[in-house]
Order: sequence, then C-alpha cells, then structure tokens
Amino acid sequence: MNILVLGGAGYIGSHAVYQLIDKGENVVVIDNLETGHVEAIHPNASFYQGDIRDIKFLRDVFDKESIDGVMHFAANSLVGESMEKPLKYFDNNVYGTQVLLQAMTEHSVNRIVFSSTAATYGEPESIPLTEVMQTKPSNTYGETKLTMEKLMKWTEQAYGIKYVSLRYFNVAGARESGEIGEDHRPETHLVPIILQTALGQRSHISIFGDDYDTADGTCIRDYVHVEDLIQAHIQAMNHLKDGGQSNIFNLGSSQGFSVKEMIDAARNVTGKDIPAKIGKRRQGDPSTLIASSDKAKQVLGWRPSRTSITQIMEDAWSWHSARPNGYQEG
Ligand code: UDP
Repeated sequence: MNILVLGGAGYIGSHAVYQLIDKGENVVVIDNLETGHVEAIHPNASFYQGDIRDIKFLRDVFDKESIDGVMHFAANSLVGESMEKPLKYFDNNVYGTQVLLQAMTEHSVNRIVFSSTAATYGEPESIPLTEVMQTKPSNTYGETKLTMEKLMKWTEQAYGIKYVSLRYFNVAGARESGEIGEDHRPETHLVPIILQTALGQRSHISIFGDDYDTADGTCIRDYVHVEDLIQAHIQAMNHLKDGGQSNIFNLGSSQGFSVKEMIDAARNVTGKDIPAKIGKRRQGDPSTLIASSDKAKQVLGWRPSRTSITQIMEDAWSWHSARPNGYQEG
C-alpha cells in the first residue's frame, strides 16, 4: 500500500513511518516542520514539506502520489497552550482536517486512521474508561480532537470516507534501536522530563500535587509504548482495507502508574538519583486515567507486547541517553 503519513516528522508519526517501512509499505510523509524534526523522517520515505491547511499543496501531493490510505498525526497537542490559544488549535487541528478531507474526497482516497486522545472524555465517569462513556472535554485540545471525530463521522455519511479514530492514553518509550524518539520543545511530558532530570539537564522534577485520592497521593496514568500504539494503527488500516467499519478505539495498557511510581521506575532503570519535589497541582489534571482497550483487542486483534513499565522506561532511556540533546545533535 501507499500510505500518506501526515505529521511523519513528529514523535508518534515518525514511529509510524519506521514501522510501515519495516512492513514493506511505501510511505509518503507530509510535515510542516513546525514541531517535527526533519532528522526523524525515515530516509526511504518521500517527503513533502507543507501545511495541511494549504489545499493547493495537498492537491499537488495527491496528484503526484497514488495514495491508498492516510494516517493523520499532524496536530497541535499541548493542553496548556490550547487553553491560551484556542483559535490556533481549531485552525490547525479542525480546519486542517477539514481541508484534508476535502482533498481526500476529490482524489477518492477513502481510508483514514487518526490520532485522537483520552482528553475527549474529560473527567472520567468511572475507571477504566470505555468508548461508550460520555465525552465532555475539559480543555480546547480535547474539544478539537472530538470535533475532528465528528467531522469524520459526517464526512463518511456524505462521501464514504471510512475512518478509525484512536484515543491515546499516555504515549511513551521509543523505537528499540534508538534511532528516533521523543523531542518536544518545550517538553511538558512526564517521562522525558524525568529522564532529562536523570541526565542532569534539570535540577529536579516537580511532582504536580501529592494530595490526590490515590494510594500515594500522586496522579495515576496509563502509559502505552509508542511501538504498541503504532501496531494498532497498522491493524486499523488493514481493518479498513479489508472492508471493516469506521470505529473509535481506546489505546492504553489498561494499567495505571502513579507519578511517584514512574520516578521510581526511572531510578531503577537509569541508576540515577532523580531528585523530585512536590509542587502544586496542575490545572485540569484528573486524578486517575486508565483505559479499557478491550475493544481494540477484540475488533482489531491488537496485542500490545511492551506493557511493562520497565521496558517503556528502558526504551525511552536508550533514546535520551544516546541523544541527550535530541535531534539537535545531528
Ligand atoms: N507530571 C508531573 N510533573 C511534570 C509533568 C507531568 O507531575 O513535570 C504529571 C502530570 O500531572 C500527570 C502525569 O505526570 O499526572 C502525566 O503528565 P503528562 O503531561 O505526561 O501527560 P497527560 O496525562 O497530561 O496527558
């Protein structure tokens, strides 16, 4: 298949490109390099630099390449920034997807697998979260992803574009070979921040509150290995290719770890001290988020195999310790 990967220079998109190429697929990458890294793009992928909001650019790529399916990772994803700049998020995430669907319709490309998020649920009704639970996002980022899902739903009815939306929980880890990994600027995610502290790039990690209603008082999240996550995307694309219906799936490991447990796991893996200080709660953080991924397992046959937190931390550490300055080192 010829797969178009939007956002193929980003953390998750670059892992998709590598796995697709491992599986013998032809991959075309689009990225505007606003947050992505050109060094993260697989050398065997065809790369077009441009913005998905630019219909002429998209038409040009679809004209040149014969695309069988799209994987869409090109979105802004910082919760805090989304609250300060909601229009930026609606423009890039929602309008960008609208333009993409327009170009797909014009070129009769009728399969898309796309990144959604657990942030579509907001404060959970109960744990674990299943796909039938209410969606009440508590931030703009989650609202834009939910709106993108709705765009897909109505576009399917009108034009027959089939979609699979994958609601990610906390994605972490890196490709085992250590060629690619997580490099966000600014970095806001827990695992890279812990490992930057292990490298001595930060004096300490600040734990955002230890007065939550959890065993050790710190927030519990469901960490899923990026390679397992991408495997689900490939299975979702195959599901659509085989005539499967549009659908929405959670992707998590169905197990929760607290912030303190994550820091302890990193201390064990790295052998470093990793100083931690208790700070204030971060606004909008639910105390516990754990996925039920039974639906993805049943319908897609997803079998995550890197669920141990030690393995997730080891793979993330391979990347961070080999490339302490991320892609900047060249
Ligand atoms: N967290 C923390 N200190 C940090 C960054 C994150 O205590 O410097 C906590 C955060 O409050 C949350 C968990 O780690 O409970 C995971 O946060 P992250 O931003 O990685 O992902 P999110 O759950 O917000 O998608």
